[in-house]
Amino acid sequence: MAEYWSVAVDAPIREPLTYQAPDSLAGGLFRGQRVKLPLGKRQTTGVLLRPQKDVPDVKLKEISELDDTHPTLPDFFLKWLEWLAEYYLHPVGTVASLAYPSLSKATKERKSKRPPPIKEYAQSQAPRLTDEQQTVINKISEQKGFSTHLLFGVTGSGKTEVYLQLLDKTLNEGKRGLVLVPEISLTPQLIQRFAARFGNRIAVLHSQLTDRERTNQWWDIVEGRKDILIGARSALFCPVQNLGLIIVDEEHEPSYKQDEKLKYHGRDAAIMLAKLVGCPIILGSATPSLESWRNALEGRFHLHEMKKRVEDRSLPEVRIIDLKANENKNKSLPHWLSQELADQIQETLERKEQVALFLNRRGMAPLVICQDCGFVHECPNCDISLTLHGKNHLVCHYCDYHETMKDHCPDCKEGHLSSVGLGTEQLETEIQRLFPEAKIARADRDEITNRADLEELIEQMETKEIDILIGTQMIAKGLDFPHLTLVGLILVDVGFNLPDFRATERSFQLITQVSGRAGRHIKVGERPGQVIVQTYNPDHPSLLFAQHADFRGFASMELEHRQVLNYPPIGKLISIRIQGTSLSKVQETSRLCSQRGQQLVRQYNVYENIEVLGPAEAPLSKLRGQHRYHILLKGLESRIINQFCRQLFGDESWVPSGIRLSADVDPIHLL
Ligand code: ADP
Ligand code: ZN
Repeated sequence: MAEYWSVAVDAPIREPLTYQAPDSLAGGLFRGQRVKLPLGKRQTTGVLLRPQKDVPDVKLKEISELDDTHPTLPDFFLKWLEWLAEYYLHPVGTVASLAYPSLSKATKERKSKRPPPIKEYAQSQAPRLTDEQQTVINKISEQKGFSTHLLFGVTGSGKTEVYLQLLDKTLNEGKRGLVLVPEISLTPQLIQRFAARFGNRIAVLHSQLTDRERTNQWWDIVEGRKDILIGARSALFCPVQNLGLIIVDEEHEPSYKQDEKLKYHGRDAAIMLAKLVGCPIILGSATPSLESWRNALEGRFHLHEMKKRVEDRSLPEVRIIDLKANENKNKSLPHWLSQELADQIQETLERKEQVALFLNRRGMAPLVICQDCGFVHECPNCDISLTLHGKNHLVCHYCDYHETMKDHCPDCKEGHLSSVGLGTEQLETEIQRLFPEAKIARADRDEITNRADLEELIEQMETKEIDILIGTQMIAKGLDFPHLTLVGLILVDVGFNLPDFRATERSFQLITQVSGRAGRHIKVGERPGQVIVQTYNPDHPSLLFAQHADFRGFASMELEHRQVLNYPPIGKLISIRIQGTSLSKVQETSRLCSQRGQQLVRQYNVYENIEVLGPAEAPLSKLRGQHRYHILLKGLESRIINQFCRQLFGDESWVPSGIRLSADVDPIHLL
C-alpha cells in the first residue's frame, strides 16, 4: 500500500496538497518534518501535516527527499500555524514557511565588524518590589497552565520589573520565556535591562539584524542555548520549546498587526500560542486595547492593576491649551506656539532640564498648494498630497515618490506654490530660531534611520547634550530620560478626524503615552513633570479623559459608542480589499463581490446577522498605482463571519484576471 501525506506546500495555495511518499521514505516520515518536493515544473519545500487515507485514484507526485537542514516542527507549533492559516484566511504552506529563518544554518560563525546584537552589561540586582508589584506577581504565579493576564499599570509603575521577576521564576522552574515588544520600543535601553538581569541567556530578533545574525539568534533558541527570546511580533515564528511564559508588552500597539501578506495580530496569535502550549500569558499596557479591556471586564482575562509609579514618583500634570484663542492673542509667536508652552520651555531650559516636543508629522509642511488656482500637489501614484522637505523637495510619505518643487504651479502655470501646515522639520527650524541657545535634536524617520542613530540619540539625551528633543511617534514610546520634565504636544488634532472608528482610541493612547515621558523620576511632593497639550478641539472627549488619566472613563464611553454600531470589540470585522490597475475592473468586481455577499445572507439562516457594507472607494483610493475598493463584513461571531468570507471567495474563479482580492481579518486600519 502506498503511503500518502497531506503537505503544507510553500506556495500561494489555500489548502494543503497530497503527495505520495517514495518507497525509500515510507514508514519513516513524521508530522512536522520539512521535505523537498516538486510543484508544477519547479522544486519547492513543504511541511508534512498528516498521513492521508482516502486518496483519489490518480497518480500523485512524490515527495523528493527530506530537508534536514531545518528542524522538525513540534506538534503544538504546527497546530498554531494551522490555526493562523485558518483564522486569517491565508495559504497554510505560506504560513508554515515563516517558521524558518531565511538562511540555512551556518557551519561556522562568520566574523563581522558589526557590534553583536546583544552587548555585555554589568549584572544588576533586582530592586525590592513595591506592594503593587508583589501582589501582581503572587497572583500570576498562582496560575498554572494557560491563563491570560492583563497587566494594566500606569506608565512608570514598574511593569517591566514584573516581567523580569516572573521570567526569573520561569527559568528557575526549568522553563523558557518569550517576550514580544513593538518593534519601535525594542530599544537598546530595553535590551540592556534584560541583558543586565539574564546575561547571555537571552536572544533577540528584530528587523535591524542581518539575515545571518537573525539566523544565528534563531538557532540559539531552537537548539536550546538561550532561554529567553525577546523580539518584535515575528519572533512568534521561532518555535521555542518548553515555553513557560509569554509576555506581550504594550499590547495595545497597532504595530502588532501585520498589514500585508499574512495579516495576523501578534497579540492574538500569542494568546493562541499560549493556549496550545498550556502556559500563562501576560499582556501589559498603560492604555489597554478595548479588545483586551472588554475581555478583562467579562472575566475571560485576569485583570491586575498598578495605579502608582514606583518609589513615590508623581504622575505629570497635564494642561490643555486652545490654539484658537492663541491666534487672536499673540502676534509675536507663531500661531502654533502658545505663550504658556513658550514660557514653560524657557523656564525648563533655565533649570537645565530637558524638553520634548511631539508632532505626528514629518517634513516641513504636509500640503503644497497653488495660491492662485488652489491646485494641491499630489503623488501621481497615490492621490495623496506631497509633503515638502527641505527647501524644495516634495515627497510622498506612502510610496516615497519624490520630485523637485517648481516655482510655478504645474496646473495653471502662473500662481506661486506655497506650503501649508507644519511638520517636524519646520518645527525644528522655528524652535531653533526662538531658542537660539538651546541644543536641539530631531527624531523622526528622516533623521533616525537605524538603531545606531537611535542609540546615539538616547546617549545624547542621557548625557544632556540635548536640551530640546523634537520628534514624531518615535519618541512617544518606552523611552525613559531622568532629566526630561516638560513634554509639549504641538498639535494633537492630527488623527482626530481620520475615517477610522479607532481614531479616538488612538488619540487617547498617544496622549497618555507621550505624557508618560515627562518627569518619570520626580517624587511626589516635588514639582511634577509638565505636559502641555495644544489643540483646536479642547473639548474632544479623548483629551479630557487623557488629561485626568482616566482610562476607565474613556473605555466605558468608547465601548458604548462601539456597541451602537456593532464595531469591535463587540462586533467582528473582515475587510475585503479589491485592487488592480484598471479602475473600471476594480469597480465591477467590487459590485459583483458585494452582490455575492448579499445573496449568501439571504440564502442561509446562519448568516442573518452579517452585514455586507460597501463597496466603497478605500480612503487611500489609489496607492502605488493600484486602485483600491473595499467591502466591509460585519458580524457577531468570528467563526461565522470567517466561514462566510470563505464561501464568498469560493475558488475565486469569478474574479477577473488582473484583480486581486484579499481579506483582512480583525482589521486595525480601515484606510
Ligand atoms: P513601566 O514598564 O510600567 O513603564 P518600568 O518597569 O520601566 O515601568 O519602571 C520604571 C522605572 O522604575 C525604571 O527605571 C525601573 O528601573 C524602576 N523600577 C521598577 N521597579 C522598581 C522598584 N520596585 N524599585 C525601584 N525602582 C523600580
Ligand atoms: Zn505615493
